[in-house]
Amino acid sequence: MAERNIPFFNYPALFKTYENEFVDVFKEVCSRGAYILQRDCEDFEKNIAEFTGAKHAIAVANGTDGLMIMFRAAGILPGDEVIMPAHTYVATAAAAHLTGGKPVLVECGPDHMMDPEAVEKAITPKTKFIMPVQINGRTCDMDRIMDIAKKHNLTVMEDSAQALGAKYKGKSAGTFGLAGMFSLYPAKLLGCFGDGGIVVTNDDEMARKMKLWRDHGRDENGDVVGWGLNSRLDNVQAAILNFKLKHYRDEIEHRRKLAGLYHSKLNDLKELTLPPGPDANSDHYDVYQNYELEAEKRDELKQFLSDNGVGTIIQWAGKAVHQLQGLGFEGVSLPITEKMTSRFLMLPMHAALSMEDAEFVTSKIREFYGH
Ligand SMILES: *Cc1c(COP(=O)(O)O)cnc(C)c1O
Repeated sequence: MAERNIPFFNYPALFKTYENEFVDVFKEVCSRGAYILQRDCEDFEKNIAEFTGAKHAIAVANGTDGLMIMFRAAGILPGDEVIMPAHTYVATAAAAHLTGGKPVLVECGPDHMMDPEAVEKAITPKTKFIMPVQINGRTCDMDRIMDIAKKHNLTVMEDSAQALGAKYKGKSAGTFGLAGMFSLYPAKLLGCFGDGGIVVTNDDEMARKMKLWRDHGRDENGDVVGWGLNSRLDNVQAAILNFKLKHYRDEIEHRRKLAGLYHSKLNDLKELTLPPGPDANSDHYDVYQNYELEAEKRDELKQFLSDNGVGTIIQWAGKAVHQLQGLGFEGVSLPITEKMTSRFLMLPMHAALSMEDAEFVTSKIREFYGH
């Protein structure tokens, strides 16, 4: 019999933790009849702009739409190449592809983040964009990436879906290039009760265009001035998120504590390659959307943990984007990323996870490797 039941992610806790408050928010917003693009949505946009230090934030229906809106507003043209890491969600590549661009996938460095050297090597005369992915709530070497972009006259836009609150040298993820996106999917750092996303920019013209794209090409007066999508964040979700944002910094601190515990209890195991601990490098303030490590005998470890009541996940089924079928990446070979994806495993990491449960997870991992 399992001694414990520690799910990888606790979906019911998302609601239960503040159930009464959420019900009150729902009643209040719906009683006002405030469903689409109302003041709660505007407040949420202001809150995220303030939280990230971005000049503008525009709430959208989901993160993937957010990326597509960024590409559209930035004027992507058919065939424009977009350099991005292969170790990302299919949505990053899909957004480039579906707006007419060509995703060009590159390797990660030993830190598991997009490798700036690989980016520079992948540049061709058709390259227009670099899209770093701030994966697992961590940040890429943004100094190097911004330098490369400047040198080659390329536009940087961030897939910071997993990194709301993460910082590189004190600057928020999502705010380095022309625009950045945060996903509000339930299991993301700041999750709502369905799909949601928000894009940020410091550029007034980019903000204006992204606003048009998310609402049928309509301007402030309701006049259609171009093509657009219907990609608005529900107002009630925005109201829920405004409430959740009050506890967000505490939740991030809790995740960082969990990561610190994982690090201190597992760092001596040579069978594992851990992500950096929370205080490893003062250039990076990581928010631990996920705790993704590399493990020897990964599949056996996963099974052993499962037998002991511990849920783990292999992100995106253990496949980098070029390893997915039917997307046209058949010729692409990225051996460093492929080796990593065959060893990646994610430990439980969320706001409702107790330190005690996290410690239990580490004790079982030590037991598995015979330590
Ligand atoms: C979640 C995620 C997305 C897509 O966001 P959705 O809100 O699910 O559409 C894109 N990129 C990355 C890296 C993600 O983790």
